[in-house]
Amino acid sequence: MDYYQLDTKTAADYIRSLPEMKEIFSDFDHLDVKEVGDGNLNFVFIVSNSNNLEETVVLKQAVPFLRVVGKSWPLSRERMNSEVNALRFQHDLCSDLVPAIYHSSEDMSVVIMQNLNKHLILRGEIIRGKKFPKLAEDVSTFLAKTLFYSSDLYLPADVKKQNVAKTINVELCKITEDFVFTHPYEANETNDYNPELADSSIALIQRDSAVRAAVAEMKYAFMTQAESLLHGDLHIGSIMANEEETYVIDPEFSFYGPMGFDIGAMVGNLLLSYFSQEYRQREMGNDPAEYRTWILETIETIWQKFEEKFLKLWQEHEEKSELPFMGADLNAESAVAYRKKFMEKLLSDTIGFSACKMMRRIVGLAKVADIADISDLKERAKAEEFVLRMGSNMVVNRDSFKNIQDLTALAKEMSPVGG
Ligand code: ADP
Ligand code: MG
Repeated sequence: MDYYQLDTKTAADYIRSLPEMKEIFSDFDHLDVKEVGDGNLNFVFIVSNSNNLEETVVLKQAVPFLRVVGKSWPLSRERMNSEVNALRFQHDLCSDLVPAIYHSSEDMSVVIMQNLNKHLILRGEIIRGKKFPKLAEDVSTFLAKTLFYSSDLYLPADVKKQNVAKTINVELCKITEDFVFTHPYEANETNDYNPELADSSIALIQRDSAVRAAVAEMKYAFMTQAESLLHGDLHIGSIMANEEETYVIDPEFSFYGPMGFDIGAMVGNLLLSYFSQEYRQREMGNDPAEYRTWILETIETIWQKFEEKFLKLWQEHEEKSELPFMGADLNAESAVAYRKKFMEKLLSDTIGFSACKMMRRIVGLAKVADIADISDLKERAKAEEFVLRMGSNMVVNRDSFKNIQDLTALAKEMSPVGG
């Protein structure tokens, strides 16, 4: 089939043409199609049977350009292959944390998946100060399983190397390399600054050689450390949730990269929210301490549960395996010693990547609404300054955090809860 760009009318015809859609829709006569407006890169349509709203799917299509900018920013639609491959891999491992796929087409760069119509994008809910009691449990499961089962700790070396080759994602990695690891620190013309943010704060990340060197090290790690099949863009806008359930969507940036990049994306986004909530909670008439404490507890629990689950998967696999990764453990202590080293390095990577994800959201092109939508620019600048101070400290000192509490303690020291 030749590619064509779907619209609200042709999307319904496309669905009608697919035999597998008969399993979802009892009839094709009352299909209602709505376009969802908040995608940055792609087109997303919700298709429902207006006679039975339980019969509903989401259809997402990549177009050969960046949707928010338009045809002047070409971007190949092969990104949908990365998304479909990652969605299938993640859904197979975590079926209640990743939407089910009903259909995909490489020709049309389309995926049709479960409509998460009882869930909302986490970022908006977190901005409003809603708590998610299962978030840390679910996100830690997602991270532990997807990162472990795609790594050399689990896969035979030949299979893993073939996977690295198959999942190469040159164009979207370049976006991350430029917009997360390069432009924000080089005063690039694509940057975007709050006029109330002091030059001295911007200089913290653009003119300090220790910070620049540390960010370059993280960029190098991102480009060379092919550890696991990452989600690649695991911020809180890629999660849809309610109090009972958590779903991870939108893995089009997926590729084989460093594990800490996915964990760091979550941690960094929660820290951005932590710094925004001092103002946001006061504006809502609340004492900020309670919600900000919940955010820091969530960060701690995500890391602790991730570590626990990842180590359990690893240990159980090695007990069954005839070929442990490091070879036979002759003194029965070497495996434990290696796992400890592994987790220390992973915490350091997580903190380093988290820092880059935070700093770029302040001066780079793409913002987070948590902070950028604070309309009082002086208040916004206060939150931004905290992020730049925290981020620059984190990336430079990433090896000196002994545990996750060292990180949350630093956040509290920078901007005390209730202080
Ligand atoms: P993009 O890659 O263009 O950023 P996303 O995958 O983030 O697109 O989807 C854009 C929006 O579409 C999401 O913010 C969400 O509101 C909606 N959406 C995407 N997937 C689903 C889904 N499976 N169920 C319900 N809504 C979805
Ligand atoms: Mg996307």
